[in-house]
Amino acid sequence: MITTADQALLRRAIGLATRAVTLGDAPFGSLLAGPDGTVLAEDHNTVRRDNDITAHPELKLARWAARELDPATAARTTMYTSCQPCGMCAGALVRSGLGRVVYALATEQLVELHPAAGDWPVVAQDGPDLFEEARAPIDAYYA
Ligand SMILES: [Zn+2]
Repeated sequence: MITTADQALLRRAIGLATRAVTLGDAPFGSLLAGPDGTVLAEDHNTVRRDNDITAHPELKLARWAARELDPATAARTTMYTSCQPCGMCAGALVRSGLGRVVYALATEQLVELHPAAGDWPVVAQDGPDLFEEARAPIDAYYA
């Protein structure tokens, strides 16, 4: 359930997205709010400025959370983001330990507004193969 307090932080994330556009970056903004609602970190998309396809605010903040927060705090921290995290960022969020994500626009809404903004093709993958060879470094690491 999204509360009015959540909506206030979502509006701040949307403000970060607006700021990104002003700076020439793609229109996405995110922030992290700790267990008491205090904003811990915030960022916006810098893919163009950094010439880095991974410079999504959700990914940058997930990395920050994993590095800076203890697991118990991360689990009680919420990400507020102007759009639903993409697949890349969703994977990072799982690994970050963050407990909750609240977003404004759903991916389907974003694609409906502007298809080029989020309708990514699936990359072909072939595998599995070479099981015995591939498992050796895995077994060595997890032994
Ligand atoms: Zn993303």
